Amino acid sequence: MPELPEMETYRSQLNERIAGRAVAAAEVGRERTVNVPVDQFIERVQGRTIERIDRRAKMLLFRLDNGDTLLLHLMLGGSMFYGTTEEAPDRTAQVTLSFGERKLFFHGLRLGYLHIYDEAELTEKLSKLGPDPLDAGFGAEEFAAALRRSRGALKTALTDQSVIAGIGNCYADEMCFAAAIKPLRRMADIAAAELRTLFTAMHSTFAEAIRYGGYMESPFFAGDALTGGYNDRCKVYDRGDEPCYRCGSLIVKTESSGRKVFYCDRCQR
Ligand SMILES: [Zn+2]
Repeated sequence: MPELPEMETYRSQLNERIAGRAVAAAEVGRERTVNVPVDQFIERVQGRTIERIDRRAKMLLFRLDNGDTLLLHLMLGGSMFYGTTEEAPDRTAQVTLSFGERKLFFHGLRLGYLHIYDEAELTEKLSKLGPDPLDAGFGAEEFAAALRRSRGALKTALTDQSVIAGIGNCYADEMCFAAAIKPLRRMADIAAAELRTLFTAMHSTFAEAIRYGGYMESPFFAGDALTGGYNDRCKVYDRGDEPCYRCGSLIVKTESSGRKVFYCDRCQR
């Protein structure tokens, strides 16, 4: 499932292309992807200008000029493509927004969704999310305090969206590797100094992942050389039984609370 770096990559690429532009036409191919009747959705979106695209946690917020917001959660399997119908992959789009010749296609939105909310509904919808990892006011102390509210495993705390919003399976493992901490250790056993190291590791991991365009497999537009560049840069995630880049021992793949967990038994304590 796309996490903060993947959505940041989409956000900047979308802002470059559609911020300030009006939606010439909206099409909905799957009723359940939107949260209001299809004709209402189209009426509220068509002709509106998208002022900008923001990110909150793993979601994108398309701000419309009438105060409404399109809230996108790609969940598992969702992706976007921007371009002409000829350039677009041969897939069914659940929603399409047209900007003249080019269109924004939303693919694979089965678990994911594109909802429309007014300001009050949006506030309510986002109210249970924890702080954003990249918020300027979210420092090492706030990070430690947020995680300390959790009693279970470090990985569980890191991926709990009500604790910190934006970290998922992949980057939780990657930042634990960068900090040399085993992701399944209990929060109670983790020292303050280790949490400070982890905070720094979170920033460096996200910075690298954003620089290389996250791990989404499908390109966002024809000729897109950025998206997915982080795929080959994961140090532990999805590398079970492959040698650790740091020490050569085989990466451990295990499962905890239904989540896959990857770490190096020798490098991480
Ligand atoms: Zn290692």
